[in-house]
Amino acid sequence: MSLFSDQEQRISVLLPLPLRGAYDYICPPGMTLEKGDFVTVPLGPRERTGVVWDIAPQNPDIASDKLKAVIEKLNQPALPAESLEFVDWVARYTLQPQGSVLKMVMSVPGALKDPAPKPAYIIKSDDELETVKMTKARQRVLDFMQGMPPLSASVIAHEAGVSASVVKGLGENGVLQIVHLSDASPFQDPDWKRTGYDLADQQRTAADDLIAKTEQAGQDKGFNVTLLDGVPGSGKTEVYFEAVAKALSLNKQVLVLLPEIALSSQWLSRFKKRFGVEPAVWHSDIGQAMRKSTWRAIIRGQAKVVVGARSALFLPYKDLGLIIVDEEHDASFKQEEGVIYNGRDMAVVRAQMGKCPVVLASATPSLETAVNSWEGRYANLHMPARHADVPLPIVKTIDLRLDKPARQKWLSPTLITAIKETVERGEQVMLYLNRRGYAPLTLCRSCGHRLQCPNCTSWLVEHRKIGKLQCHHCGYFTRPLHTCPNCGSEDNFAACGPGVERLAEEVAETFPDIRYVVAASDTVTSPAQAGELVRKVEDHEVDLLIGTQMVAKGYHFPMLTLVGVVDADLGLSGGDLRAGERTYQLLYQVAGRAGRGDKPGTVMLQTFMPDHPVMKALKSGLRDRFLETEANARKAAGMPPFGRLAALIVSGEDEVLVDDAANALGRNAPHGQGLLALGPAPAPLSMIRGRHRRRLLLKTDKKLPIQKIIKDWLDRTSIANSVRIQVDIDPYSFL
Ligand code: ADP
Ligand code: ZN
Ligand code: ZN
Repeated sequence: MSLFSDQEQRISVLLPLPLRGAYDYICPPGMTLEKGDFVTVPLGPRERTGVVWDIAPQNPDIASDKLKAVIEKLNQPALPAESLEFVDWVARYTLQPQGSVLKMVMSVPGALKDPAPKPAYIIKSDDELETVKMTKARQRVLDFMQGMPPLSASVIAHEAGVSASVVKGLGENGVLQIVHLSDASPFQDPDWKRTGYDLADQQRTAADDLIAKTEQAGQDKGFNVTLLDGVPGSGKTEVYFEAVAKALSLNKQVLVLLPEIALSSQWLSRFKKRFGVEPAVWHSDIGQAMRKSTWRAIIRGQAKVVVGARSALFLPYKDLGLIIVDEEHDASFKQEEGVIYNGRDMAVVRAQMGKCPVVLASATPSLETAVNSWEGRYANLHMPARHADVPLPIVKTIDLRLDKPARQKWLSPTLITAIKETVERGEQVMLYLNRRGYAPLTLCRSCGHRLQCPNCTSWLVEHRKIGKLQCHHCGYFTRPLHTCPNCGSEDNFAACGPGVERLAEEVAETFPDIRYVVAASDTVTSPAQAGELVRKVEDHEVDLLIGTQMVAKGYHFPMLTLVGVVDADLGLSGGDLRAGERTYQLLYQVAGRAGRGDKPGTVMLQTFMPDHPVMKALKSGLRDRFLETEANARKAAGMPPFGRLAALIVSGEDEVLVDDAANALGRNAPHGQGLLALGPAPAPLSMIRGRHRRRLLLKTDKKLPIQKIIKDWLDRTSIANSVRIQVDIDPYSFL
């Protein structure tokens, strides 16, 4: 018998744990619960916080005495219905437990607890002033505090240039009054009334279109997808800022997804220039306290603009009115761990739930998006000219078979001459090489042994500056070796191939007078360091920038007129479905860094394959022809976006069990019209972090329900507990 037999109400609660669905609980008398409410419930011996997923039970047949009651309803705003719907959708699509997706929404558990009120200080009126001994420091505080709202001791101390103890002292002896501020949002509303740049015609047309679409946000016809397709420098950011302003004027929230947000200080300062304040920022480097207040401000609708990495999609927006995915083609929108999803695609889904427009901005749209726009599912706004009619850079290839760098050097004579001339003209150069460290491979000269990570099938990369050999897959590192682990010979290693550090060495030797700086994700790790780097280049304190992928995107350096791509072929090897597309996108982005000011730019691609379609497309500027050729090849092969792909990655520490599981999946693979299962095969990275990996690939016609096919496949195959199967729908990585 249940305690509440007569009037008991059953509800279901989803917990942020890898559980397939919501669990039923009893809502005790006197408690009113609605969908989305945060509640604490018992789970086994523990208490957990979850979300009321339904006001009805999942399983009405369970006997009442088997059910436990909700312990407490948290005094927090409910999770908005759109967030609930989104969790369900993503879980279904990615074949991941709903609870794991909810966990991404509830990524800051501490945010559900009201923070302790913080003391703040305000000046008393003159007649209340206690008489205390005045010091210079105290006087500065009093001067600053005239007419100020309550502020924390640290803010006052900072502004008045005194130590916090001076402020606290004035509070203790009654000169300043102490008030307790409850949880105020740390974000000010961006000022949408400020005006941006005068837009050029092509910008105005695009902006007006987006403004009109944003106007309809929240209405039944509010959802639509627009590709904002503009060459680098055409002013895409300025254009979508107009739509952001519109959404703000309607009191809606806006989400801007950016790749590698941590490092885009330039974007933040542009936002601030346009809207007067900084937006809320969301990525993995944000500290706990800030995450907490940001999450709270978002669910309360107080953070109006959120700019973030893909995980920002899962924040609990109260009222989203616009989503922008900038650099929509960027592979970093794909999450490859845990719940594997594509942030760009999920942004479209999220916008659909929020009945709001989504803008996909890129100069090199992904083939998926391009095809969607050709076939009319996405609207297309095209901006073919750079702002202020700056011409696009001239792209040249340097044939490394003819124009050979010196032995153990990587710069060809032609590129060396061009660098010299550019710097002599007082302009800047960027050398692009997407390889961190000194050398990607170290081998023993005596026996040919290659230094390899003990946990992964990958080579150890030498980072000479910090004196380490590093694995770029698992983080393993060791000091440089002196003795070959294979043949025992001493100090006889050879560094093979260049990384940016080695390239820097060559630059220093070749051009002793050139001031250069290296930018790679292991040397520029914080937004502050990135900001400093940007400043150095902007202030022309350096002539030459050596960079990895980190500097390929987004930056705008007007004096940079020559871009040299040291190894344009780097991404083309291997059988990756998107190798050509990606190399094209990346090199096009890199090229787009050249000549953004009033001086024309030149791009030099060092390649062994000057006739490769990617190089030809870059040289000719015929992007759409390249995309069409790619599209035709994919269509012929039934590959995405014309067919569907899903990968199963089988992994575990015990190689025999992993092989058993992979073989069992292979035997049970689905057959039939319009589908093809491949594998199992060892993954190209057949071991990562000590886990052996095998892959299977499923290719189906677009119309087939790939999720259901996979679910049935997994259900009919028994897998050892220690073996993990990851499902990757729409895979990007084939490693
Ligand atoms: P994209 O994102 O297409 O590469 P951006 O929005 O970064 O282009 O614009 C490139 C540069 O041109 C930026 O410095 C931007 O401030 C400037 N710009 C763009 N449009 C205008 C305009 N209408 N008036 C003045 N400057 C502009
Ligand atoms: Zn490793
Ligand atoms: Zn050896």
